Amino acid sequence: MSGINLIGLLPSEMEDLAVDVGASRYRGRQLATWIYRKGVLDLDAMSDLPKDFRARLAERAEIGLPEVERVTPSLDGSRKLVFRLHDGGRISAVLMPDDDRLTLCLSTQVGCGFECAFCLTGTMGLDRNLDAAEIVAQLLIANSLSPEQRVTHMVFMGMGEPLANYANLVKAIRIFTDARLGLGYSPRRITVSTVGLVPAMDRLGREDLKVNLAISLHGATDEVRGRLMPINRSFDLAALMGAVKRYPLAPRQRVFFEYVLLEGVNDSEEDARRLVKLLRGVRAKVNLIPFNDWQSSTFRRPPLPRILAFQKVVMIGGLTTTVRWSKGEDIGAACGQLREPIPA
Ligand code: SAH
Repeated sequence: MSGINLIGLLPSEMEDLAVDVGASRYRGRQLATWIYRKGVLDLDAMSDLPKDFRARLAERAEIGLPEVERVTPSLDGSRKLVFRLHDGGRISAVLMPDDDRLTLCLSTQVGCGFECAFCLTGTMGLDRNLDAAEIVAQLLIANSLSPEQRVTHMVFMGMGEPLANYANLVKAIRIFTDARLGLGYSPRRITVSTVGLVPAMDRLGREDLKVNLAISLHGATDEVRGRLMPINRSFDLAALMGAVKRYPLAPRQRVFFEYVLLEGVNDSEEDARRLVKLLRGVRAKVNLIPFNDWQSSTFRRPPLPRILAFQKVVMIGGLTTTVRWSKGEDIGAACGQLREPIPA
């Protein structure tokens, strides 16, 4: 790509760029409005921008988007979008309709470096971080693919660890939530999920972005969690729960906890009671995710009665909990199933 990518610039950076090419800040605001508010991704279609401004802009900058390689519809109504990046890397995003909601699950890295034992994406290893443009483009393209319904909610639960790509994540969120010239999403409709990078969680809390936080917990003791998630050796449950309690919450806001149910590993009623104890005093919502199988995985999904028995203990313990049956299982789009080949 040549020059600056307009996608992924903050509206204020577009204003600066307009000044740099000899125009007024107002032209930059118009540019942001076209791209983010109207979703127009072609400079030639921006009819109220003077021709000479567009020409000078085109010498310095362009609209760079990843190529949509595939859109795979699932029987359950979700759709998996596979993008091919400029260096040949591939990522995916998943569109999930639910009543009047349309949730987009976004990727933040090509691959992932955290090696959770049960996660297929984790077997890829980390290739690289996405830049802010590549994160924002997933939403812009998803919205352009479904003009009949705009994306209403976003979850950073695709490929990669969002908090390991901190600066680009925060920049993308600022573009999504800028109400004046950005996309205008309420931060309460955006959820950032993490394996539990404690320093980055604290930093996120201080940004005042007000987005929802989700923790991939999966075990209620260091013994169980440490076996499943290597990150637990760097930040154990005590450190993690400390950061959770420091994360600033609005009055009715809660922290989400994801707990993948693995047969014989973390699915006993005793495990459920430990989970209740761990989350005592935390404004928590527990999402139980029955394990999604993938080839050569050594884990198994517990039988339904066991899943329901686990949920019952958590509910009786006073926690809000739902069983989250993943969408897109039939198309390799379910939690932890995202994996696209990395080019050699
Ligand atoms: N790296 C971040 C964002 C990914 S979120 C994080 O881990 O939070 C994806 C969620 O799906 C995580 O909670 C992950 O632990 C879970 N997951 C991974 N593999 C899974 C599988 N095979 N079945 C069910 N859930 C899985």
